[in-house]
Amino acid sequence: MTTARELHFMSLARDAAERARAAGEVPVGAVVVCGDEVIGTGFNHPIGAHDPSAHAEMVALRAAAAAMRNYRLPGCELYVTLEPCLMCAGAIMHARIARVIFGAHDPKTGACGSVVDAFAQARLNHHATVLGGVLEAECAAALKSFFADKRAQLREARLAGAAEIAPRNSAQRDSAWPWADRPTQAPDAATPLPARPSSG
Ligand code: ZN
Repeated sequence: MTTARELHFMSLARDAAERARAAGEVPVGAVVVCGDEVIGTGFNHPIGAHDPSAHAEMVALRAAAAAMRNYRLPGCELYVTLEPCLMCAGAIMHARIARVIFGAHDPKTGACGSVVDAFAQARLNHHATVLGGVLEAECAAALKSFFADKRAQLREARLAGAAEIAPRNSAQRDSAWPWADRPTQAPDAATPLPARPSSG
């Protein structure tokens, strides 16, 4: 049963995800909550930051730790619109986050049960509790619409003759992203790449 509190903080994470979309990045957002206060907000932007670790959760954890002047955040919660990946799950453990609440499941890179369940590994010494599927439809819709827009932009560019379409293997790589309903065809290296699947 999802509480009004959980819906509230997930809606703030969704707002952060829209900032990623505005920056042309895969729309994933996160907030870290201490008590009833947001102490860190982050949105996914690995492309713009030239930083493979710039996932929403990592950015929110860094902001929260800086705000608390403490690399550990015991008792805090992390809300994120997409199931965390292994990297983020690791950082969540290092930060001693008590509870993770995520929106959409990620069947390709999710590390909270979808692909692996990092938090169920008894030999790892920290165990956050995890709640998934909060506002799942809304969080997933944001991702689907992002990729639909990307496909439409690529179609327009192709019709305008402005972009060459990459060989098939490039499209197949992008099809690994679960929110791409069908393969996203990337322009070749001569043109700037669209947002690559890079969050979670
Ligand atoms: Zn991640």
